[in-house]
Amino acid sequence: MTEKFDVVIIGAGAAGLMCAAEAGKRGRKVLVLDHAKKPGRKILIAGGGRCNFTNYDVSAHHFLCQNPHFTKSALSQYTNWDFIAMVSKHGIEFEERDHGQLFCVGDFTSKDIVKMLLTECDLPTITQRYQQDVHSLKKTQLGFELHANTNIIECDSLVIATGGLSMPKLGATPFGYKVAEQFGLNIVPTMAGLVPFTLHKEDKEAFAELSGVAVDAEITAQDGTVFKEALLFTHRGLSGPAVLQISSFWRAGQAVTINLVPDIDIDALLASNLEKHPNQSLKNTLAKVLPKRLIDVLIERKTLIDKPLKQLTPKQLLEVSEQLESWRIAPNGTEGYRTAEVTLGGVNTEHTSSKTMQCKDIKGLYFIGEVMDVTGWLGGYNFQWCWSSGFVAGQWV
Ligand SMILES: Cc1cc2nc3c(=O)[nH]c(=O)nc-3n(C[C@H](O)[C@H](O)[C@H](O)COP(=O)(O)OP(=O)(O)OC[C@H]3O[C@@H](n4cnc5c(N)ncnc54)[C@H](O)[C@@H]3O)c2cc1C
Repeated sequence: MTEKFDVVIIGAGAAGLMCAAEAGKRGRKVLVLDHAKKPGRKILIAGGGRCNFTNYDVSAHHFLCQNPHFTKSALSQYTNWDFIAMVSKHGIEFEERDHGQLFCVGDFTSKDIVKMLLTECDLPTITQRYQQDVHSLKKTQLGFELHANTNIIECDSLVIATGGLSMPKLGATPFGYKVAEQFGLNIVPTMAGLVPFTLHKEDKEAFAELSGVAVDAEITAQDGTVFKEALLFTHRGLSGPAVLQISSFWRAGQAVTINLVPDIDIDALLASNLEKHPNQSLKNTLAKVLPKRLIDVLIERKTLIDKPLKQLTPKQLLEVSEQLESWRIAPNGTEGYRTAEVTLGGVNTEHTSSKTMQCKDIKGLYFIGEVMDVTGWLGGYNFQWCWSSGFVAGQWV
C-alpha cells in the first residue's frame, strides 16, 4: 500500500521536531520518521540533563560555516527570543549561566524541552513513527517516494534532519550525507567538533596525575581564534569548555597556545614577592595563583625552574611569565565522534536557500539542523540553529 503525506521529515531530533510542529500548524499532513525508539535523545542528555537550549547573545559570528553569512536569515526569522518565548509559554523555568547560556533550572530538565516539542507536535496533521528503517528514497515527477520498513510513502516535500556523526551510540548515522550524495550535493568534509583533546604519550603520562584539576585559561588556535574559559586536565588529555570550544578551530598536527594565568600579572607578582620574600621558592610563589599539582608537573617537565626567587636571573624571571602565558602544546588528536558534541562540516550550504533550507536545484528537498555545514560554538548555539533552520523550513515544506 502506498501512503501519501505532504511532508516527510526524517529525524525526530531538535530540528526535525521543530520543523514538524511548524509544518503541522500550517495544516500540512506531516510524517516524522526515526530509526530510534524515541525522539530527541540528544536533547535529553544535553547540558548534563539541563539542556543549554539557547543563548542570550546569538549571531552568525557564533557559527562555523563555509559561507559565514548563511545562518543570518534563519537566525533572524526565528530568534533566540522566539525560542525563549516558547519555553516560557510552556512554563519551563530557566537560568542564565556564564556567557549568556540558558539552561533549564529547578524542577525543569531536558525532558521538559522534549515534552514541549512533542506538545507542539501534538496535532491531528502530524504522525510520528519510530524504529523506522528508511531503506531507499527517490525523486519522482511530483515529489519523493520512500521505502520505510514495509511501507511505501509518497510526499511533496522531504526534509532531512538526521543530524551529524557525533555519538553513534545515540543513533547518529551518515544517512543525511548519503542522501545528499545521492542527489549530487557536495559534503564539506566532516570531523568531530566540541571534543576533548588527547595528548601524545609523554604529555599524557606527565599530565595524567592532574586529572580533575581545572584552571581558568585563555586558549588560542593557530588561526588566531581565542576562548577564555575553564580548562580541565583529564586522564586522557585536555577538556573543559575552553578546549571544547577551540577543538572546532584546531586541525591535526597544529599546536594550541594556552595562557594559564589570563587574569594575573605574573611579572608584577614575581617582582613584589622578590622584594618582600626573596627567599621564597618560585613554586610557593606561584602556588598563590595556580593549583600546586600543576606547578609540580611544570617543574618536573622543566617548563619552570624551582629556585628561591632571589636566585633567578631577570631573564629567568621573565621566562616564567612567558611559559605560563604562552604554554604551547600539540594535541595528539581528539576523542573523536565517540564523545564529540557536534560534527563539523556537512551538507554544503551552497546548495540550499538560506531563507528556506530548500535545495536550490531539487525542488521539495530540505536539509535542516546539524546535518548541514553549520556548527555552533558551545553555549546553546547548536540547538538554536536547529530551532531556526527547522522553523524556516516548516514555513515552506
Ligand atoms: C553530549 C551532548 C551534549 C550536547 N549539549 C548541547 C547543549 O547543551 N546545547 C546545544 O546547543 N547543543 C548541544 N549538543 C549538540 C546538539 O545536541 C546537536 O547539535 C543537536 O541535537 C542536533 O540536532 P539535529 O536535530 O540536527 O540532529 P539530532 O539531534 O542528532 O537528531 C537526528 C535524529 O535523526 C535520527 N536518525 C539518524 N540517522 C537516521 C536514519 N538513518 N534513519 C532514521 N532516523 C535517523 C536520530 O535517531 C535522531 O533522532 C550536545 C550534543 C551532545 C552529543
